[in-house]
Amino acid sequence: MKVLLIQPPIEDFYLTEIRTYPLGLLYLGTLLKKNGVDVSILDCLKPYKKKTIPLPKEFNYLKEVYSEKEIGPLKLFGAYYRFGLTDDEIIKKVCELSPDYIGITCNFTAYFNIVAALAEKIKAVFPNTKIIIGGYHATVYKEDILLKHSCIDKVISGSDENDFLRVLGLPEDESHCFTRTVPDRSLINSSYYKMHRKNFSFLIATRGCPRKCTFCTVASMHGSNFIKRSVASILEEMSYLCHHENVRVFDFEDDNLSLDRNWFDELLAGVTETFRNDDIRLYAMNGISAETLSEELLQKMWQAGFRNLNVSLVTAQDSLKEKLRRPFLNEQFELVVKAAVLLGFEVTAYLIIGLPDQTKEDIQETIEYLSGLNVLIAPSIYYPPPGTEQFSELVAGNRVDPDNWISFRSSVFPVETDFLSRKDLVYYFQYIRMLNFYNEIKKKYASALGSIADLNSISPFLLENIDVQRATEEEIGIAQLKEYLASGKMLRIYRK
Ligand code: SF4
Repeated sequence: MKVLLIQPPIEDFYLTEIRTYPLGLLYLGTLLKKNGVDVSILDCLKPYKKKTIPLPKEFNYLKEVYSEKEIGPLKLFGAYYRFGLTDDEIIKKVCELSPDYIGITCNFTAYFNIVAALAEKIKAVFPNTKIIIGGYHATVYKEDILLKHSCIDKVISGSDENDFLRVLGLPEDESHCFTRTVPDRSLINSSYYKMHRKNFSFLIATRGCPRKCTFCTVASMHGSNFIKRSVASILEEMSYLCHHENVRVFDFEDDNLSLDRNWFDELLAGVTETFRNDDIRLYAMNGISAETLSEELLQKMWQAGFRNLNVSLVTAQDSLKEKLRRPFLNEQFELVVKAAVLLGFEVTAYLIIGLPDQTKEDIQETIEYLSGLNVLIAPSIYYPPPGTEQFSELVAGNRVDPDNWISFRSSVFPVETDFLSRKDLVYYFQYIRMLNFYNEIKKKYASALGSIADLNSISPFLLENIDVQRATEEEIGIAQLKEYLASGKMLRIYRK
């Protein structure tokens, strides 16, 4: 029996390429292979390629927001792209492999239209091939998908890989358990996955999170249990990757990696000891909760090979945090961030802009709060996350159209509220870009750069006399900063 597992292409204004390692499909493929299935994985996002495609009509309102001609550090997105293989290229691969079953992963509701179109085309050419959809979107919208898309034969919910064996009519593998599985990387072309020209791999050490943030999607996929792998099995996987595949950069994609402090402590000690001479770098790009970190743990993270820390504050306002059931207060966040900065970590702190009931004052307060912490501020534009408590509440209150699937993504500023218009959201997004740029040049020139005269000492240009065709990004940004200091206006710059 032949099975082809597909990571589908993506259509959007941008793609964070490094975050597309197909680890979920590797876990599934490993189980199928172990049970005698002839399995292949097709990562349609590799090798990396993108092509400009027409903007979907649903996003016409963004023509006022995005321009391909915008330049300078305040620049937002420009063109709309297809990332990855075309449907015809995928069909060609399917033809070469001639599988009995095709599994397509669909984690994001906003991208389901691409999966549905692909499934339809595959079915038209290979009517006898069974098409199975899995992933987060499939978990939340199982019935809808089956009802509306006859080309899709089965939908698998949740993260139990054994469900796929059942769909194939094979007996469940009772010995299978996430905590004991080491994904078989021979199923992918590892040379595609690099970071800073070094071999790179995703890892997952835990599944789930028992916290109950109202906007979080983790519980719908994994339930509320928190399951950890043994430190020994993680070290075994990392050692194999390091010594046989020359992987030097590891990204833990866990939802709450440090939740169990003692276990995390043990993991860090094991990594430090095992890879003492291997110059590895560790990341937790999916973020790490400030709730459980301490200065001592941060020191151990540094020793193990972490140099970056992604932490999410969401909002600085405690009342809003309480509403969202976020598990920590600002004091803990601040303690962790300050300790991390002192240790030398590059800290990226996330906030959400456009949350239901969030006000301009709240956003302003959160930005000011983060500005004082010497971090890179990363704004996430709010979108309604299907399958969450918050989503159900918004739908019940008629505040979100539950069928507007294509818009459930950050890049399209999808939700306007009584307190925040789209214009406001764009303003704050760019304002944060300006702040980050300002902090960057202050660092670069080791100077406070508090006045227009200070900025003139680096670049003399003003917006009215700058040659936008030839000016550097920095010159444009400094001219924009001067304009802001003089008039309070953030002006966007476009090439002719
Ligand atoms: S702490 Fe993080 S992973 Fe856990 S529920 Fe909250 S947002 Fe989700």
